Amino acid sequence: MTIVFRLKGFEQDCFEIRYAAGVLMRGGLVAFPTETVYGLGALVWDEGAVSKIFQVKGRPSDNPLIVHVSSIEMVEKVASRIPEDAYKLMEKAWPGPLTIVLPKSERVPRIVTAGLDTVAVRMPSHPVALSLIRETGEPVAAPSANPSGKPSPTSGTHVVRDLIGRVEVVLDAGETLYGVESTVVNIVTEPPVLLRPGAIPVEEVEKILGRKILIPEFAKGLGQVEKPLAPGMKYRHYAPEAKLVLVEPSSYTRECLKALAEYIKTQALAGSNGKPCILATLETLQHYSGVGAETFTLGSRENPFEIARNLFTILRKVDEEGCSIVYAEGFPDQGLGLTIMNRLRKAASEKHLINC
Ligand code: AMP
Ligand code: MG
Repeated sequence: MTIVFRLKGFEQDCFEIRYAAGVLMRGGLVAFPTETVYGLGALVWDEGAVSKIFQVKGRPSDNPLIVHVSSIEMVEKVASRIPEDAYKLMEKAWPGPLTIVLPKSERVPRIVTAGLDTVAVRMPSHPVALSLIRETGEPVAAPSANPSGKPSPTSGTHVVRDLIGRVEVVLDAGETLYGVESTVVNIVTEPPVLLRPGAIPVEEVEKILGRKILIPEFAKGLGQVEKPLAPGMKYRHYAPEAKLVLVEPSSYTRECLKALAEYIKTQALAGSNGKPCILATLETLQHYSGVGAETFTLGSRENPFEIARNLFTILRKVDEEGCSIVYAEGFPDQGLGLTIMNRLRKAASEKHLINC
């Protein structure tokens, strides 16, 4: 049985948080909101509870979990030989959507890190997440609360739909702020490496560090994943049931965006059976009138935060609306654009490049 608590006027040590922390302490699973997406948590020390996370999600056992903490001292329980640069990042970027990969401490069960010698750690800024971890008093291992391969949950409603009856508690606090997962950086390596672009742009992390971070092709959603560098990135991810076709133009000038929309329009019109849909932006929306495809607007290209935030919600809507094929426009690989493109490339069954 799943207990769903709807947290509206949230208070730090309310009954719901104390109850959920008790469930974690007794080896249960709790789905909770973070500022990125919803997480599915277990006490980090409890191998049995952590293995339930893998079962419930259908997550491959070689894909490690992120450990969530509520203080920097708590990091020292799960990581060892923490470099100076890590403290710099923790002080400036936490609490927030940055996950730091560090050498693991002996105490962390191997199932959490999928056998790696490193552990990924993050301090979320969502007040519900922070209070839950504080109340538990121990780190909480938590991947995103979606069945493996599906778009991450950005609202309590998504979580309830996916996990009802399979976890002990869902803390529903409505929609999340960023709507996309955390940025994952390994700073044990020289130079530091971006393992997953996310809600905080890699350029901002570089600014805090005062040096460059290597961006491998797989972080863009391209090329081969270097195993075991970033095991999670090798799977097709974030995908709707509908077939997603990503169309990338060679540049993002006004003319190119028009050519991009024209190309998508032709493709959508030529499609044979099923229902074609289009993920548009405010800048291209006008080009799609009269195509006979359902059009979803991600937001304005001027505001990539909004586009990232809407992406998973709209990928779920696409299935609810019964789209059979979805055409998505590309974005420049910079700032949050890199994050958006990583998710779109990993969700795509087909990628088309157009020269303009
Ligand atoms: P999720 O929590 O579902 O958003 O996924 C966590 C992401 O962090 C996955 O892409 C993992 O591969 C990555 N990750 C977690 N731990 C490590 C680690 N020790 N080294 C490299 N990547 C990691
Ligand atoms: Mg995930």
